[in-house]
Amino acid sequence: MKAIIHYFKTIFAALKTLVKGMAITGHYFIHPKEIITQQYPENRDTLKMFERFRGEVVLLHNENNEHRCTGCSACEIACPNGTIEIITKRVETPEGRKVKQIDRFVYHLSMCTMCNLCILACPTDAIVMSNDFEHAVFDRSQLTKILNKPGSKLMEGVRH
Ligand code: SF4
Ligand code: SF4
Repeated sequence: MKAIIHYFKTIFAALKTLVKGMAITGHYFIHPKEIITQQYPENRDTLKMFERFRGEVVLLHNENNEHRCTGCSACEIACPNGTIEIITKRVETPEGRKVKQIDRFVYHLSMCTMCNLCILACPTDAIVMSNDFEHAVFDRSQLTKILNKPGSKLMEGVRH
């Protein structure tokens, strides 16, 4: 007898769960504006990520192809897993002063854990986290990026 009661109890519990699920589906069918899930990639053109989402590290450049990176290496030192390599060179200013300048900002996206420590360490706010999350590539080497654009230079007024 006990087994029969348990059997019907199980069926009742399953039906209750089914009705509950159908009620939620029905609610969103009647109130489509309340739906929070998104149809990706169909909505690629209108998709807006949350501001705090961390997709990849980028070096900001202005319209004159200038950035704020002095090549101080603070981000490289702060990075816990060697994702960043700052390669610098020595250049002479018009005043005859020899200064360190960034040659290549190498970023290994495949190693980045998006911990944000490099961003916090940068004294000139040269780097930020972008929202871009579409990083799939066929060739892994494409995940190693040079963040300073060709021909770019240090922004006027940013101190070494
Ligand atoms: S986000 Fe973290 S892991 Fe990625 S480069 Fe910056 S410090 Fe390194
Ligand atoms: S990005 Fe910032 S912390 Fe990194 S080398 Fe450039 S100035 Fe220094």
